[in-house]
Amino acid sequence: MKKCSKCGEEKEYNYFNKSRSVCKKCRSEYNKKYRLENIIEITSRQKKQRDAKKFPKIIKDKEEILKEQKEHKKYIMRKIKNILPKKQKNIKLKTKKRLRNIKEDIKLKIEMNY
Ligand SMILES: [Zn+2]
Repeated sequence: MKKCSKCGEEKEYNYFNKSRSVCKKCRSEYNKKYRLENIIEITSRQKKQRDAKKFPKIIKDKEEILKEQKEHKKYIMRKIKNILPKKQKNIKLKTKKRLRNIKEDIKLKIEMNY
């Protein structure tokens, strides 16, 4: 048997949680009371935790988001710069080839006419 420090009743050990001097009944009543008195803080804390899980980006501050966007832009620009010169080179080569082909065509035609 153990005496509850709250209601002062003597109860079996299974009425107490481990290493608690307050019986389960008093504890749950205390929890209820605490919850009622602090309902706003508790729910807002819970909501924050839930939101942090659901929308991790919203919790970040604006500066952080802007920084990330800038970094991303830089990354994209770097990628474009790496890709673009190659493509331009390819285009130049292709037009050169085409021009050469046209010239040769003309040459051939001229030679045929002769
Ligand atoms: Zn009690």
